[in-house]
Parts: sequence; C-alpha cells; structure tokens
Amino acid sequence: MRHLIDIKDLSIEEINALISVAKDIIQNKEKYQRKCQGKKLATLFYEPSTRTRLSFEAAMIELGGNVLGFSSSNSSSAQKGESVGDTVRVVGGYADIIAMRHPKEGAALVAAMKSEVPIINAGDGGHNHPTQTLTDLLTIQCEKGRLSNLTIGICGDLKFGRTVHSLITAMSRYKNIKFVLISPEELKIPDYIKKDILEKNNIEYLETNSLEEYMDKLDILYMTRVQRERFFNEEDYIRLKDYYILNKEKLISAKKDLCIMHPLPRVNEIATEVDDDPRAAYFKQAKYGKYIRMALILNLLEEKHVQKYHPELPEKLVNVIKCKNPRCITSIEQELPHICVLADKENKIYRCKYCEEKIDKGE
Ligand SMILES: [Zn+2]
Repeated sequence: MRHLIDIKDLSIEEINALISVAKDIIQNKEKYQRKCQGKKLATLFYEPSTRTRLSFEAAMIELGGNVLGFSSSNSSSAQKGESVGDTVRVVGGYADIIAMRHPKEGAALVAAMKSEVPIINAGDGGHNHPTQTLTDLLTIQCEKGRLSNLTIGICGDLKFGRTVHSLITAMSRYKNIKFVLISPEELKIPDYIKKDILEKNNIEYLETNSLEEYMDKLDILYMTRVQRERFFNEEDYIRLKDYYILNKEKLISAKKDLCIMHPLPRVNEIATEVDDDPRAAYFKQAKYGKYIRMALILNLLEEKHVQKYHPELPEKLVNVIKCKNPRCITSIEQELPHICVLADKENKIYRCKYCEEKIDKGE
C-alpha cells in the first residue's frame, strides 16, 4: 500500500492488519505518542468537511506529529486555481503525507499519480471515502468482536448513499454475512450492487420498506439519512420521512446486543432518546474513526520505497474517448489525459479511470 484512494485497493489482509494496529492503539495509547514526531500531515480540503478534517488532524496530533493545510468553503476555488497535480507536488515539499477531499470524482487518484508523498482520499465527490468504510469496519470489529457471521440491516437512502455501497462491498468479502436492506421504493439499492456484489459473492439479502419487520434478526443496524432532495415530490417525502426514524418503540423486538451505527451527522434519523441506549454506537464510531486513521497514517509513513502510483491496467485507451461525467475531475482539469479502461471484457464495457463512470464507446 502506498496511497489509499479506494477501499477496493486494500486486500482483506491489509484491512485486517490496519484494524489490529488500531485496536493496539486503543489499548496502548502511550506507545504511539511519539511515532510521528517530526512528521507533518497536510489536510487539503477543497470542500469543507469539518468532522473528517478534525478526525485526521486529531489522529496525527495523537501520534506526535504536526498538521497544516487549508479548508475551502468556496468550491469554485478548485475550478480556478492550480491543478491538483501541481498542488500536491508543492505541498509534498512541506508535508510527509496528504489527506485530500475534493468535490470532483477521481481527484485523489490524480493526486496519487503525481505525488511523491502518500495520498489519503478523504472523499472525492460522491465517489469514494475509504476512511469512512475503514471506520465502519473497526466499529463492527470492536463492538461485535467479529467481522463474520453477522446480519446487517442498512436503512435509509440505499440508492445514492456511497457510504452504504462501500460498506456492502467491504463486508461482502467476509464469511456468512447477510443483509437486510431497508428503504422506500424510490431509494432501493441499485441493481449493479445486487448483481456485481451481492449475487456474485452469493450473499444472502432481502429488501423491505419496513424498519421493524426484521428488527429481531439484526446484529447491526446501520442508519443513514433520507434527504429531502432525493424525492420526486414533497408528498412522498412527508409520507416517508418519519417512517425511517429510529426510536425506542421500534427497538422493542431488537436483540440485546444489537449495534446501532450512523456515519453522522444525523439530522433526525435517530431520536435522541436512543442515545443513552447501550446499543447506540454512533458516537463511539466517530472515535473509532480517529484510531483507524492513526493506523493508516502509520502504515503509509512506514512504507520504505517512494514511488509514484502506477496501477497496472489490463487494457486502456488514452485520449481516444472522453469522459462526459460533469462530476469527473477531467471536467475541470483540461490538461489531464482522458484514460478509459476496459472494465468488462465480455460486455466490452469501458470506464473512466478517474471517476469509474461507464463510457459509451460509440461505434
Ligand atoms: Zn471520468
């Protein structure tokens, strides 16, 4: 591992190794107090996400290191200033490791391709946010004592929620995992997740629009926000918004050792009366996020060989077809070569290397 751009880049062994370092940090904090003495973490946040940035900064400070960086509330600065590649080459002269958040998909990958220091993707648009997924995995491991043999309920916006898609992808690699997918009809899990992840890995799952129907079966309940703007009309939103609010009453049939998670910030998906329930793990989850980031920073800084990121690609076309995704980093950085990768040989599906959007090759 040299950079962390996508959770899929990590093998299950690498994930387990990070989790075990994080657990050791939790138990032996003093041992790690000076591990990063003299090292600097730069946080380059082209869009604000205060809690993610603070989590990275707290992680580095607890390792004895220092932090520098910027957070821009003006997303247009990413569109006007210098290229991501130039910025990381400059900042790499000041810092030993960079955590980057950017509104455009693929921005962190572009940074990794140019950077001399490790890059951690702290979110690239709606695309990847691997440290959130690692946080979720550490939470499950610490709260349940295992990452296998679990029935996981996921509730809310399963259609657009990237956190949910990454969690399903990551958990599908562990043994005997079952999913209960709880959402309104309009926000059901996309077909490609069912086909390419769940069915491909023979994962048992069922879909329901009721939060209570399978409550007694769940080991984990992962709540997410249902956003108003995802609904086609106001009536549907008003009809459904309270239906997915977790409160004490809906927990009546739940297991005694259920683990309730939420990536935060919550708006009203979980009633505050649940906060004092010993099964509520969402504030602890935020704390686990700091520990897994500490483990990740340590791991990336310990790598001995500095090299640029050149993942092996099976087959690619450069500047032959252009990515048209307006959320892609190529939409604002004109100098970037358009690279498209043959993602599925059988069906001749090409995807943009940066944003992974399907590209229509045309004839
Ligand atoms: Zn693209």
